[in-house]
Amino acid sequence: MDEFGIIETFFKRRPQSSRVLLGIGDDAALMEGPAGHAYVLTTDTLVAGVHFPDGAPGFDVGYKALAVNVSDLAAMGARPLGFLLNLTLPTVDEAWLTRFRDGLSALSEGLAMDLIGGDTVRGPLSVTITAIGEVLQGEALRRDGARVGDRIYVSGFLGEAALGFLARAGRVAVPEEFLADVVARLDRPKPRIAEGQALRSIASAAIDLSDGLVADLGHILKASGVGAEIDLRRLPVSDAYDAVFSTVGYDPALGFGDDYELCFTVPPERLPAFHHILPRFGCGFHYIGDIVAGESLVLRTETGVYIPQALGFNHFRG
Ligand SMILES: [Mg+2]
Repeated sequence: MDEFGIIETFFKRRPQSSRVLLGIGDDAALMEGPAGHAYVLTTDTLVAGVHFPDGAPGFDVGYKALAVNVSDLAAMGARPLGFLLNLTLPTVDEAWLTRFRDGLSALSEGLAMDLIGGDTVRGPLSVTITAIGEVLQGEALRRDGARVGDRIYVSGFLGEAALGFLARAGRVAVPEEFLADVVARLDRPKPRIAEGQALRSIASAAIDLSDGLVADLGHILKASGVGAEIDLRRLPVSDAYDAVFSTVGYDPALGFGDDYELCFTVPPERLPAFHHILPRFGCGFHYIGDIVAGESLVLRTETGVYIPQALGFNHFRG
């Protein structure tokens, strides 16, 4: 049973409270808040030896633990408000804690997000953060709004974190000039908060790319009851990726995840408004394909349909 099976079997229930506007199954939950607002709530755990290597720098652990949560707020189009931190520590290492705190602050200060509570216990190193944001009711970006004919876009470049991981593991020789960039993309991803907020009145559905394009776009398709066709020649990859493409092919960009870019759909009638906001965002938004009828995700290359070997990251698989 995978993580989705566990949630479906044991935890997914119809909400008892009418103030739950959106429950389990999206990037974040929505709870009715004051004055027409909704609270946006999401939580994620990073475990040493699973999500980051044992001995990873405290700064990177702190930064990424918050970033992956903030990315889920971005995928909902939310404005970040604050966060809770549950820290499980094997020992009290003050130097490590200082760097961990600095990593958190590097992201939270730019977003005016305050740490408002949590818990600290002893045990194997793990970090759980619960991020809280807000959005006007009815304006949140969700996974279930994609319709046939919508265009599919992603922000930024895909596969950068994969290259960082593969380079660090000594499995792919990324040219020296790109090495620091791809490793930074793995350790310190940039959640697309401003982009998510700008897309609120434009995108019909959105998700952040934590598990890879195939898996995460798959969640939009399932929630929306539609299919998609992606043209892999349009897949946005960096010069670093181009440099190793003949070795790695499409799969790291499609299946590794950890890029924390946004994948979203835009209905044709909103394209003029979308083109209007484009110049504001340096990361770039790239058109990669279209929502179609059916329920399958078809990946096309110049030679035909492409079947990836890699799939999205899924705990408990196998
Ligand atoms: Mg997500």
